[in-house]
Amino acid sequence: MALLQIAEPGLSAAPHRHRLAVGIDLGTTNSLVAAVKSGHAVCLADQEGRRTLPSVVRYGSGSDVEVGHDALKAQRIDPLNTISSAKRLIGRKLEDVAAAQLPYRFGSHPQIISLHTRQGDKTPIEVSAEILKTLKQRAEAALGGDLVGAVITVPAYFDDAQRQATKDAARLAGLNVLRLLNEPTAAAIAYGLDNGAEGTFVVYDLGGGTFDVSVLQLTRGLFEVKATGGHSALGGDDFDHRLFCHLLEQNGLSQLPEADHRLLLALAREAKETLTTAETATVSTVLSDGRRIETRISRREFANLTQHLVLKTIEPVKQALKDAGIGKTDVKGVIMVGGATRMPSVQQAVAAFFGQTPLNNLNPDEVVALGAAMQADVLAGNKADHEWLLLDVTPLSLGLETYGGLAEKVIPRNSTLPTARAQEFTTFKDGQTAMTIHVVQGERELVADCRSLAKFTLRGIPPMAAGAARIRVTFQVDADGLLSVSAREQTTGVQAQIEVKPSYGLDDETITRMLQESMSHAADDAALRARAEARVEAEGLVEAVTAALALDGDLLNPEESAAIQQAIDETRRAAAEDGAAEIRAAVAALGRTTDDFAARRMNRNIRRALSGQNIEDI
Ligand code: ADP
Ligand code: MG
Repeated sequence: MALLQIAEPGLSAAPHRHRLAVGIDLGTTNSLVAAVKSGHAVCLADQEGRRTLPSVVRYGSGSDVEVGHDALKAQRIDPLNTISSAKRLIGRKLEDVAAAQLPYRFGSHPQIISLHTRQGDKTPIEVSAEILKTLKQRAEAALGGDLVGAVITVPAYFDDAQRQATKDAARLAGLNVLRLLNEPTAAAIAYGLDNGAEGTFVVYDLGGGTFDVSVLQLTRGLFEVKATGGHSALGGDDFDHRLFCHLLEQNGLSQLPEADHRLLLALAREAKETLTTAETATVSTVLSDGRRIETRISRREFANLTQHLVLKTIEPVKQALKDAGIGKTDVKGVIMVGGATRMPSVQQAVAAFFGQTPLNNLNPDEVVALGAAMQADVLAGNKADHEWLLLDVTPLSLGLETYGGLAEKVIPRNSTLPTARAQEFTTFKDGQTAMTIHVVQGERELVADCRSLAKFTLRGIPPMAAGAARIRVTFQVDADGLLSVSAREQTTGVQAQIEVKPSYGLDDETITRMLQESMSHAADDAALRARAEARVEAEGLVEAVTAALALDGDLLNPEESAAIQQAIDETRRAAAEDGAAEIRAAVAALGRTTDDFAARRMNRNIRRALSGQNIEDI
């Protein structure tokens, strides 16, 4: 499971200047933005003093876009142009979300979700970007300057596509993403740093539409996620829905027109929230056909109606504890996250299960944003580095050089020590009997931009065809940060090894600079990597064709030979001078020119084999 180093050499800043960075909880139901001000994380309010922003976007007439409270209000009268719960759709395919039962007009594309609005089709990424834009403006107004970046939280269960889509939304909103952070980890950071907590903690997060439970181990500023679990479709909305159904029953109603449906659902939610602090709530309204509804409900009744939903959260909690290999009594604290954990029945059920009062001295709606803000503050470089740099994690990735001058990471940065990882490599040339292992440190794609730590050679590899040898390289870093690297050819067992001290001579400043460079060069690096890979492919093909010409050149007439030679020259030239796309084009052309030749060689080899020769000799 991933480890998170909260203490981190940030993007260094002039010590006297505070760089404005925020934490954003981009929620299914509500979103918040927080920042560290005079050493304390606080949620930032809008001009009316409201801190939560409903994650609702309304596409109005013209190019008017409303976000938040106004959009939420308008949802009753303009449901089809008012998008909520975009987070349920972001980074997903239409076929995966059929179960979400959202009342929108979806586009027909099976891969890309889009929603028809009067301003055209909108993707969940665009909808989320509107929310982020609003929070960015709010933060810049409240903090009085431009943001250097934001830490945005995502549910622990978000996959790569969902995380990437969230980043895309941030980019659309003009936000620089310092990091995506798992929501439970953010909550734990908020509690850990504020209260100096250590030990095993459970994060119980019941939001509007999702339930997440995580078991976290906190030690000396390190948060290790031991296990996660939950329900991707269980939250406060289900409590609203249950109460809504109760209202229908009580009033002898069944199918309702869209607008009435939404109205009643909103009233159910209001009643639910009222019951958190009041003993009773009354729902009273007039439906579009003039029928009157007047229903009084007590907290007790509501608790009975929704008891099964509360119980449904306990199963995943048990499972997560089991996965983490711990019992209830090992849990030092339970952190309550999400607006729905305000419900007394939820608080009671969790307290009863764990036999302890859950931690709720921070606002459960805000705790994720607060933790994200603390993390953003560190990443923006507002903490003195020495306070934050922990030695028990690898500060930079460790890896080795592969063909083409590329750095392949074996141990990613921020791995806790001790750690060991192995990876298999192979030879690039036919008959290669030795392989130089070049150990490097850094985040960049090219070896030239990383720090060279050591070089050693594995000899005695039996001569084999390129790609046939299996060389297993093991990286091991002990508790003192001492790295040893060993390489072993799997079929023969020959091996070689070396020890290096990777952190030697690398001060915080150097680490910070290397991290900064890897971030600012990410795009360049991707292009360089693509080019280096294309070059490796080109060189490999040229080598193979040249070898084939030497063996079976007699199968070709002089014109064919010349054409192949010309394609080889062109590929060589492209590899030396051109970009990735041109190199690939040259490789493809060389491939086409030699198709026929390859077929003839194969025929010859088959004939030879059939005439009793050993195919290995050919
Ligand atoms: P998300 O993480 O999904 O954006 P939140 O953490 O903001 O959601 O939680 C939203 C849910 O919390 C909604 O279902 C809302 O009705 C519920 N909620 C907010 N305040 C209260 C309250 N006082 N009592 C009960 N439920 C509440
Ligand atoms: Mg949430």
